[in-house]
Amino acid sequence: MRTLAIVGRPNVGKSTLFNRLAGKRLALVDDRPGVTRDRREGEGRLGDLSFRIIDTAGFEEADAESLEGRMRQQTERAIAEADLCLFMIDARAGLTPLDQHFAALLRRSGKPVILLANKAEGAAGDAGLVEAYALGFGEPVAISAEHGEGMADLAVALMPFI
Ligand code: GDP
Ligand code: MG
Repeated sequence: MRTLAIVGRPNVGKSTLFNRLAGKRLALVDDRPGVTRDRREGEGRLGDLSFRIIDTAGFEEADAESLEGRMRQQTERAIAEADLCLFMIDARAGLTPLDQHFAALLRRSGKPVILLANKAEGAAGDAGLVEAYALGFGEPVAISAEHGEGMADLAVALMPFI
């Protein structure tokens, strides 16, 4: 089974998508201290597709100084395990320096990336969608993890990798 990692800065909607795809099929919470704390993984499903999916970046215990380090460590490990990375940005907020930071991590990994522009329900995400092209990961898939929009487009984007 293919492994997908949902990667991106905090608050873009990664866990919302994870919950939508994995539902209650949450396999385990790996809490080895300092390495994978708060990481969640499970069996994701979308239409006929099944895959292992990893949610990233829980770091409640991190202080300001170690935040970036912990985020990087956890994310890098998930990326290393993944066959495909779902790189999520917030289409409403537009691109931030932290998005660029994650983009650089992903580029260096050499892993295939599907760019997800989340919170794209309504028209509020249109500008962010255009900005997202500039990241160089191809055409972003516009979704609303919360409202379940764009899931058919996501399935079409995933199909070649699963
Ligand atoms: P994470 O930190 O990347 O895991 O983000 P979360 O999944 O915790 O979501 C962060 C916030 O964004 C929450 O308040 C969600 O309800 C909200 N959110 C998630 N998906 C969407 C969406 O599609 N549209 C909107 N408007 N809000 C969303
Ligand atoms: Mg989360």
